[in-house]
Amino acid sequence: MPEKKLLTCAFCKGTGKDPFKLLSKLAACQVCGGSGKIEVYEPVVTCAFCKGRGTHPHTRVSCPVCNGKGSVTQRGYKEECSNCGGSGHLVGANLPCSVCGGKGVIRR
Ligand SMILES: [Zn+2]
Ligand SMILES: [Zn+2]
Ligand SMILES: [Zn+2]
Repeated sequence: MPEKKLLTCAFCKGTGKDPFKLLSKLAACQVCGGSGKIEVYEPVVTCAFCKGRGTHPHTRVSCPVCNGKGSVTQRGYKEECSNCGGSGHLVGANLPCSVCGGKGVIRR
C-alpha cells in the first residue's frame, strides 16, 4: 500500500473555508471539505501547473492537475518535461501540458 502524506490544503491554505467565497462566506473548502488538511499518496511533488497554490492560474477554480491540493503523486524516476520546460503549462494556452499532464515532470 502506498503511504499517504497529510498536507495542509493548498486551496484554502488550511483555513477550511472556500477561498473565493463562490457559494457563501461560510462555505467549506471544496478540496478538503473544511478540514484544512488533504491526503496525497507518496511520493509527492509540488504541482507545477499551479506552483503548489492549488488554484487554477487564470480562473477562480481549483487546479485541474492537483484538484486543488497543491501536490501531486509522481511515482518513478522524475525528469523535467521537455515539452513545457517543467512549467506544466501548454505553451500559449491556459491549459495543462499534454505531455506531463501539468505536473512538470515525467516518468522515465
Ligand atoms: Zn481546503
Ligand atoms: Zn495544481
Ligand atoms: Zn509538460
